[in-house]
Amino acid sequence: MKYSKENFLIENVRAEEIAKKFGTPCYCYSFNKLKDNINKFKKNFSSINPLICFAVKSNTNSKLLNEIKKFGLGADVVSVGELMKALKAGISSKKIVFSGVGKTSEEIKYAISKDILLINTESQSEIFEIERIAKSLKKKVNIGIRLNPNTDAKTLSQISTGKKENKFGVDEKKLIDLVAYVKSSRNLGLKCLSVHIGSQILNHKPYEKMLKVLDRVIKKCDHNFDYIDLGGGMGIDYEGVNKKLNLKKYAQAIQKFVKKYNSKIIFEPGRSIIGNTAVLLSKVIYIKKNSQKDFIILDAAMNDLMRPALYGAKHRILPIKKLKQKANKSYEFVGPICESTDKFLNVNNFQKLNEKDFVIICDVGAYGMSLSSNYNMRPKAPEILIQGSKFKVINKRQKLKDLI
Ligand code: PLP
Repeated sequence: MKYSKENFLIENVRAEEIAKKFGTPCYCYSFNKLKDNINKFKKNFSSINPLICFAVKSNTNSKLLNEIKKFGLGADVVSVGELMKALKAGISSKKIVFSGVGKTSEEIKYAISKDILLINTESQSEIFEIERIAKSLKKKVNIGIRLNPNTDAKTLSQISTGKKENKFGVDEKKLIDLVAYVKSSRNLGLKCLSVHIGSQILNHKPYEKMLKVLDRVIKKCDHNFDYIDLGGGMGIDYEGVNKKLNLKKYAQAIQKFVKKYNSKIIFEPGRSIIGNTAVLLSKVIYIKKNSQKDFIILDAAMNDLMRPALYGAKHRILPIKKLKQKANKSYEFVGPICESTDKFLNVNNFQKLNEKDFVIICDVGAYGMSLSSNYNMRPKAPEILIQGSKFKVINKRQKLKDLI
């Protein structure tokens, strides 16, 4: 995705053409960016030969899941709905792991009936429930146990998951008790130790710490885990300033770690696979000046892209046409929803915008459409997949009449 002369291109297609043809707001994905991300991820960890389970929560579009499946990836799901979507997209049940702190009995039964690779459990109560169901079905169910390693991922507090105050996983002491319990169960197979310390991680050091904790815990467990699931969390460069996670160092640390154990590594990446593959096209409805600032009121809102309102996350905003003029305007980009948090970004040095101009909100492929809602009775945006000079609608714009 780049400018060619003044036009913003997604692969070979002008973003403006898409905005005019399909209206705004509109999500646009680049197929080749997705392919690149997957290939780079695989290459970076090739010495480890991991099972890569795409975190479906980051993007649930069926067509994209199907494309991801064609690259050999499995899925990490957190609800029966995501599990159904992954299966419908053709992902083999033997490449699916089920995470989450609150799986219901119905969800557990469904996962067992589909014979998925692993249910990654997060509490004693959940383990008892799976055992009860497995016993009633006269089955042996393969599970993992998620460790809370009490490791600070040094990311936004709202997306940190590996500290002891977070609800995820069990602490070291509990884990050792649970390992002993599961090993003695006739209906449970203890296959995996899992961990996921947070999201949008840009520093490899928390991962190194996490591996050290895992190392210590595995020794205490005295159990050969077939799988060590390291979760996802690899961050991307939202600000466009080349702040990147040093994946090489992370891979080296894993290599050193895994040499000691005969376990297969599982990853659950979401953002690093899909985050930078998409942009959200939007139109300026009004420009409103007050004594303090100029508001650019867009037709995209927090219901379309929730991350800024939810986490204070920042997504770069660019003009759809770059003009040869001074970029010296200061703008606050907001949506039309009746909430003060319906605000995307403050930007200095933007080129002058006019009402009805289009803009591009960057890096919205992960937790963009999947977090969208109908708040304020707003229909959800369409999703378009672009490959070379071709484009295809992979999710239609919701119709207002279907909402009403
Ligand atoms: N695995 C688990 C258990 C998660 O909770 C998440 C995200 O919250 C992920 C994987 C994916 O994380 P990311 O998109 O940051 O790679």
